[in-house]
Order: sequence, then structure tokens, then C-alpha cells
Amino acid sequence: MALYKERMSDGPHLLQHALAESALRVLRDEKSSPQLFRGAILRLTSLLTLEATRNLPVKQVEVKTPLTTTTGGTLACRVGIVPILRAGLCMVDPLLTMLPEAEVWHLGFYRDEETLKPVTYYEKLPPNAPVDVAYVLDPMLATGGSACAALANLKAWGVPELHFLGVLAAPEGVERVQREFPDVPIHIAALDEKLNDKGYIVPGLGDAGDRAFNAAAL
Ligand code: URA
Repeated sequence: MALYKERMSDGPHLLQHALAESALRVLRDEKSSPQLFRGAILRLTSLLTLEATRNLPVKQVEVKTPLTTTTGGTLACRVGIVPILRAGLCMVDPLLTMLPEAEVWHLGFYRDEETLKPVTYYEKLPPNAPVDVAYVLDPMLATGGSACAALANLKAWGVPELHFLGVLAAPEGVERVQREFPDVPIHIAALDEKLNDKGYIVPGLGDAGDRAFNAAAL
């Protein structure tokens, strides 16, 4: 099947949409409640989804209307939605709304404090029959460690076409994903300035999982 491929020499795909601006402001505002925060992620992910799925292959099938028989389009590929735990979970719903037949495969990583490398703690990809296209979800592309680990898992599963969808990215994370996976399109809402020495994106929005799930330590 001829799937959508593109070269990443032009950099990440930055969402350019009037509605993205105010959603980003809500996310960055430390005073936004978890409910507002989740709503803003949802709106941004809906816009990102429209862009990232624009060129999925479609085939024509016969359809019987109440009046006659005609043809209509249907997706011609199996799609996987792959949230990286935890924060990626708040991006799943908009993709499932647009892609109701998609499969959801979760991946979880923690950072080994000695090696600083991501270690897989949750991965239940089946041994065969990979999806045709997979969308890796993580609102924050910071160092790129988890994104690259997720993409490596999906490559090992045999997925021919991979995309990364995030909300904010640091240049360091974008560069790493582009270096290790040059054929993977990166779709983000904003490219921030830098990472701080604790690995947080600056200006950023803080810890996306804590804020979305109201789980910040007091
Ligand atoms: N993960 C987050 O939640 N926030 C950051 O700034 C970086 C990684």
C-alpha cells in the first residue's frame, strides 16, 4: 500500500491556526484548572489530528443510499493511536473521535536515574500484524528520549509509517527525533525556546501529566 511519506528536512510541522493561540495561552497559564488544561489539550490535539491525517489513503466503496447506489470513501489503512503514559492519555479522545476504527496501543517509560535512559515499563504490542500507520502521542517533546523509545518499539513491531503528535517541543527533542527517525513527521503546536537543567521545556507549561490529572505533589 502506498502510504504518505515525507522528508523532514523542513523541520517540524507547526500548527498555524487562530484557535491554537488561545488554547496555548490557557495551557501555559499556571492558574488554569485541570479541567481548562485538559480542554485546551483536547482542542489542540483536534487541530493537530486534522493536519496529521490529511493524506491517509482512502479507497472508494459502493454505498446504497435510499435512492440509488453510488460510491463513497473509506480509509484504506489500519491506524494505531499510541499514547505515551501518562500525559499522552489526554490526547487520545480527539484522535479516536476522528478515527473511530483505530486501535489504541499504550506505551509507558520511566527514566533510569543513573543512565538517564528511558526504560519500558508497559508495552503490550502484539507479536505480529502491525498497523499500517501509527500516531505516537505525548504533549511534551522534551529531550526526545521517550518519543524515540516509542518510535523504536513501533519500528520493531514493523509499522511502516510513523508520526509524532505533541503540543510543545524543545529544539533538543525535535533534533533528536529528526536525527534518529528522519522519516517521521513531527506535528506540534509550538516550538519553545529550550530545556532547563531539570529537563523541563521553557517557557513551557510545567508537568503536563500532573496538570492534566490534578496530580501535583503538594
Ligand atoms: N514533561 C513535561 O510534562 N513537561 C516538560 O516541560 C518536559 C517534559
